[in-house]
Amino acid sequence: MQTIAHMTEYGHELLVACSEPAAGLKAFIAIHDTTLGPACGGVRIWPHASEKDAVTDVLRLSRAMTYKSAVAGLPLGGGKGLIWADPRADKSEAMLRAFGRCVDSLGGRYITTEDVGMTPADLEHVAQETPHVVGLPTSMGGSGDTSILTGLGVYLGMKAAAKAAWGSDDLAGRAVAVQGFGNVGRQMADHLLREGARLVVADIHDGARELASKMGAQTVAPADIYDVECDVFSPCALGGALNRDTIPRLKCKVVAGGANNQLLDDADGDELHRRGILYAPDFVINAGGVINVAAEIGGVYRAERAREMTERIYETTERVIAESQAEDIPTHAAANRLAARRLEAVRRLRPTFRDRRGRR
Ligand code: NAD
Repeated sequence: MQTIAHMTEYGHELLVACSEPAAGLKAFIAIHDTTLGPACGGVRIWPHASEKDAVTDVLRLSRAMTYKSAVAGLPLGGGKGLIWADPRADKSEAMLRAFGRCVDSLGGRYITTEDVGMTPADLEHVAQETPHVVGLPTSMGGSGDTSILTGLGVYLGMKAAAKAAWGSDDLAGRAVAVQGFGNVGRQMADHLLREGARLVVADIHDGARELASKMGAQTVAPADIYDVECDVFSPCALGGALNRDTIPRLKCKVVAGGANNQLLDDADGDELHRRGILYAPDFVINAGGVINVAAEIGGVYRAERAREMTERIYETTERVIAESQAEDIPTHAAANRLAARRLEAVRRLRPTFRDRRGRR
């Protein structure tokens, strides 16, 4: 990937590389678009195989955040952080604080929060160095665990997709194959099991598989999850799960999960559409987390507001599917268009007095 060419093609504003050798920090912050407000998105800690993979990941994730906040109706732009390290082996207070300093240097243009490899407690270290952090523990006045509302939103988006696929949003008796039983996978599974769905779970960690079994799910090896006969395939691990190798293996009618960037490429969304598999776009249905942290910006966390906005994900998913069906376009294209329309409308606003005084 040519970094600048990629940024130009997809409209990124900024990519920052952060280095603090004493703390073992190697990180990137990508800001995609701040038309709607400051860029907000979690920081992921992940040991990518190469620097190129890490940069590609953070750029793609930051763009998805712009679209996610736009579709969810939030006054936020899209950004993302990526600490290039193994969260189980390398994470330390010093590393997290060094990352916090890097966030602080951007003066609020990027607001960070939790993502894969991070916990609310880790964010406390980041918050020692910068006020531009959301998703802090409730004991610190924050909104707490983002995965609770993410899981709820994914479940509701799945129900909306089920209604379009089968004429009823009832998931009782439906088989759902879940890839990744981490924070989001577990929260979503809770709702599904309560409704009477049957779960088949794959995770690369023994502990996660054991928990899934205890909760009543069947488990399979990670490599086999794509071949499971199911009604819904639910990617809840990392991005790129839907690609030219995996899509032909799917035996489902609906794809609906919490992972970010499930489509390796837009062409993979076209392929799902061609095969008649209804894909509930990831950034539409997994917005509960960013909705939750957005309700914390300004100092007072408004839990009811966050839940209310998350519940709207059902209708937004229905709207995206309806547009896709009316025009025979893939659902990811319909969702992108919805986001682009909002961005375009706000971009066209004339500068105001506050802008001229240097608000941004
Ligand atoms: P997590 O780290 O708690 O869970 C991820 C799980 O996936 C882990 O249990 C991991 O072992 C498993 N996993 C990784 N690779 C796998 C593979 N190849 N096969 C099977 N399992 C695998 O992270 P999370 O917070 O649950 O996030 C999951 C996904 O949802 C990520 O893509 C994240 O970006 C996205 N997301 C999370 C939130 C949130 O609120 N936490 C919000 C929006 C989107």
